[in-house]
Amino acid sequence: MTQRVAILGATGSIGDSTLALLEPNQTLPPSFEVYALSGHSRLDKLLSLCQQFRPSRVAVPEAAVSEFASRLSQCGLDIEVVGGQAGLISIVQDSAVDTVVAAIVGSAGLPSTLAAAQAGKRILLANKEALVMAGSIMMKAVKDNGATLLPIDSEHNAIFQCLPAAIQQDNTQIHQSSYGVKKLWLTASGGPFLRQSYEEMSQASVAQAVNHPNWSMGQKISIDSATMMNKGLELIEAAHLFDLPESQIEVVMHPQSIIHSMVEYSDGSYLAQLGSPDMKTPIAHALAYPERMQAPVKPLDLFDLAALEFLRPDLDKFACLRLARSAIRAGMVATISLNAANEIAVQAFIDEQVKLTDIALINERTMDKMGELSFEAPQQIEEIIEVDQRARQVALAEVAALRS
Ligand code: NDP
Ligand code: MG
Repeated sequence: MTQRVAILGATGSIGDSTLALLEPNQTLPPSFEVYALSGHSRLDKLLSLCQQFRPSRVAVPEAAVSEFASRLSQCGLDIEVVGGQAGLISIVQDSAVDTVVAAIVGSAGLPSTLAAAQAGKRILLANKEALVMAGSIMMKAVKDNGATLLPIDSEHNAIFQCLPAAIQQDNTQIHQSSYGVKKLWLTASGGPFLRQSYEEMSQASVAQAVNHPNWSMGQKISIDSATMMNKGLELIEAAHLFDLPESQIEVVMHPQSIIHSMVEYSDGSYLAQLGSPDMKTPIAHALAYPERMQAPVKPLDLFDLAALEFLRPDLDKFACLRLARSAIRAGMVATISLNAANEIAVQAFIDEQVKLTDIALINERTMDKMGELSFEAPQQIEEIIEVDQRARQVALAEVAALRS
């Protein structure tokens, strides 16, 4: 049977890796149809993707709908164009869509990812921020509506692959006693500053921060990798996805990025998933699950791997990791605040208003100030957005304070 796929965030790095697996000349089963695509600012690129993949529907920002529609018709393409968050939501709710690749970056991905869960779709989740902001609401929507959530973040995909089949099929809960899962081990490359001092890290330019040694990724996640906020967001993501407390999720530095994560069992077994650092592998796994498909990925040359290293993370240098643990323990208002502050702080760093090491400071101060306001834990998306907006204001004030 052909899976009809909607790729939200098709113009980004995950979009590229996904579409590389869905080339129109792909003849091997399973078969896929690229049914819908979305883009935000790179609309020239979206137009070429429309020419190449000929989707039925495409989503762009509201203000770009009519111009993009006329560009499509000038190219002789009959594709329905929808706009804004409402457009993204109408795509995930479309009864023709089987699979949604949630690959929009940041909080902008939350409404459509949640709507996909509510519509009971098969979701290939890259947008970790959706679980960071709305983990319990997302997981409940998945369960209540019979959706399937398959992680494509490489660490979570690795853990998923190392879990027993029974948990894979109901990954809303790890039944620890029956399956012997003791701990999850998230691996972290350490990014470009693993072996540099805090002082060197504080002087980093944007170009140095986005220059990841092993992975090629979008700008925001690359900066998150440099501060290790990415691993912090992944800790929160894993706690929700696999329903475990943070004390049962360890982070180990593994600079080679060959082991993508591990599951430790009570009998002393550790199961690990290995592979070249290439997002096409976890995406192919999730696209084809429970089958396997061909992916154009460089095989690992095991004879060429001189050594695999494992190091303890430095929580003073990478304070964002410590903040993520305390945010999980504090609850949803804290995780939303941390995510919102981080988005503001990363943008301020890109705009050269603050230093790379200021990101952790802004995040921590925002979390502290938000903790003093008496927000109840949000129950629905409007309340999440309210906390998110408030945290952004607090974080912007922290950016201003650092600049003065
Ligand atoms: P990119 O920046 O490369 O792509 C982001 C995508 O989101 C683009 O299609 C972009 O459109 C779109 N977008 C940006 N802002 C908005 C908005 N306000 N509304 C709608 N769409 C928007 O990011 P990545 O592909 O690297 O990351 C995407 C997600 O996947 C992130 O959550 C990231 O954490 C996660 N992830 C990424 C990995 C990677 O290897 N890249 C690995 C694991 C997880 P446009 O480009 O047209 O502006
Ligand atoms: Mg990851």
